[in-house]
Amino acid sequence: MNRMDAVMEEMGLHPLWRLKPGKANEFPDEPAAMGWEEMKSAIESCTACPLHKGRNRTVVGVGSEKADWLFIGEAPGAEEDLKGEPFVGQAGKLLDNMLASIGLSRENNVYIANTVKCRPPANRNPEPSEMAACHPFLSRQIELVGPKLIVLLGRIAAQSVLDSDASISSLRGKVHACGNIPAIVTYHPAYLLRNPMDKSKAWEDLCFARKVMTGL
Ligand code: SF4
Repeated sequence: MNRMDAVMEEMGLHPLWRLKPGKANEFPDEPAAMGWEEMKSAIESCTACPLHKGRNRTVVGVGSEKADWLFIGEAPGAEEDLKGEPFVGQAGKLLDNMLASIGLSRENNVYIANTVKCRPPANRNPEPSEMAACHPFLSRQIELVGPKLIVLLGRIAAQSVLDSDASISSLRGKVHACGNIPAIVTYHPAYLLRNPMDKSKAWEDLCFARKVMTGL
């Protein structure tokens, strides 16, 4: 049993992200069977982890719901929590610039989501149990978008989605698998704002992602 499955097991969720029969739960339905509107509504009323207590708005995702490119970050911040949209503010502007540098935009050919849909207090990292609780929604989003390539933004998203303890530096520059979808790892835009010297590495990652996508 891998790390994410172990957390899910502790929470009464079995490894296919479905609820155990007869186990009390806070999910109104099983996300694995939901369409977009049903899932958005379920997220808005979700109380499956403690993050629901501090949220103003849930942050489901933004962009084309049938995009070839899916970008996944870690969690909503303060501005996202107020607006209900991922990656707004300075980190969002940088992400938009990164997308534009390889001919992408959230308006046209990209979908952007996070590992959790509610803001962690004081912008702390989401706990493994919170990411596990929210994973059925992320998993269903991935199915509904049906991307050709997933780009994981930052250590938290990469380790959670790839179920890995590896450092971001060792995960960069490789093609990983998220189910049967190729995934690559790069830095989170918020990290790049604090560490601008690594922007050149992020540019290398984006060029690598574009090359991988071209070959699909
Ligand atoms: Fe539900 Fe996800 Fe919000 Fe937790 S973060 S309350 S699992 S929608």
